[in-house]
Amino acid sequence: MRSWGVRSGATRSCLLPGGRILSKKFFCPSAPGEVGAILLGVVQRDSLVAFIKDRIPVTRQFLDSVSDSVVSSRFRFSSPCIGSACRQWSRAQCGLPEALKEVAPLASSFDTPLPRCSIRAECRWFQQEGTGACRVCPIVITRERAPRESFQEDL
Ligand code: SF4
Repeated sequence: MRSWGVRSGATRSCLLPGGRILSKKFFCPSAPGEVGAILLGVVQRDSLVAFIKDRIPVTRQFLDSVSDSVVSSRFRFSSPCIGSACRQWSRAQCGLPEALKEVAPLASSFDTPLPRCSIRAECRWFQQEGTGACRVCPIVITRERAPRESFQEDL
């Protein structure tokens, strides 16, 4: 499956197909790997995502240095949530946290610390599901199969 994300309290805007401008205040934690996105984490040998605590912007140089398949299979990215322009958007919220519940429990409390990601304060999944989303988040691998609004992720 695929998803979305925020940035410290500030409202951002992005340009949608057709020139529409959409204001955003949350970040998608499973966005396409593209210039300007945040490099959120790296998929490890055990298939779990190791999150990066600092916000590292994706550059053209980085994308040119790795193949498209590596970009989608080895990294996770975050970009401003595009809300209803994303096909995962359902009933005024992101539909992916709900879908994730069907494949993995979104437990609200564990002894282990939460992943140290860089977007928690503005993460769409965290905003919707709290720490339960963070417990399942490391198993999500984003796969891009289509343009921006048709995110699709596989677990
Ligand atoms: S670990 Fe939690 S806050 Fe960070 S990207 Fe994943 S769901 Fe969002």
